Amino acid sequence: MTNHIAENLMAVRAQIKQCAKQSGRDANNIKLLAVSKTKPVSDIVLAYEAGHRSFGENYVQEGVDKIAGLKHLNDISWHFIGPLQSNKSRLVAENFDWMHSVDRFKIAKRLNEQRPAFAKPINICIQINIDDEPTKAGLLAQQLMPLLSELEVLDKVCVRGLMAIPKATKVKSEQMASFEKMAVLFAACQQKYSQFDTLSIGMSGDLSAAIECGSTMVRIGTAIFGART
Ligand SMILES: *Cc1c(COP(=O)(O)O)cnc(C)c1O
Repeated sequence: MTNHIAENLMAVRAQIKQCAKQSGRDANNIKLLAVSKTKPVSDIVLAYEAGHRSFGENYVQEGVDKIAGLKHLNDISWHFIGPLQSNKSRLVAENFDWMHSVDRFKIAKRLNEQRPAFAKPINICIQINIDDEPTKAGLLAQQLMPLLSELEVLDKVCVRGLMAIPKATKVKSEQMASFEKMAVLFAACQQKYSQFDTLSIGMSGDLSAAIECGSTMVRIGTAIFGART
């Protein structure tokens, strides 16, 4: 059985470079998060051996199990990117370096309280429901600034930026329309908060649109690890 993970990583990195160049951006300002949800630990190890160090997981228990199994690879940065019930927040606070899907004060407050004293603050992004979809998680744009003000008192969370999963479409102009709204919000936050440096947008199907609109972190699963069953 051949494994294409190393090749896929090279291809995705090349695509990021190419898109950055086309939009006059420096590819070094675009981080690649490899989304390993549902994939076995052995796939993560293959990506690690190919030089990759940042991984995203969607399901708390699955993520925590993988982190425990890979404790010896202690330079991995682990990102939680899925929906989180507040009763599972401790597992995220204790195991992950980043949490991309904060969409209410309660979750951030719990992460702040549950973050171990010896650990650095957990980096968080606020998830925005950028297309106002009724079934999708995330804050509406007009709720963002009030939440950011509330978060200022928390010292064990570091608010690094914004995340969104826009409405599913293969049409690039529609992808761009969603991402441009994110770029406007992100710029407004950066005016007010100096530590804001992360715009977490772009997945396998909309990577180039996201980079054109200023993404600083793309979350790529399928294009690296193959389709999920
Ligand atoms: C699964 C997932 C991804 C990766 O999606 P692909 O289309 O496989 O690249 C990115 N972000 C989130 C929040 C996800 O749940």
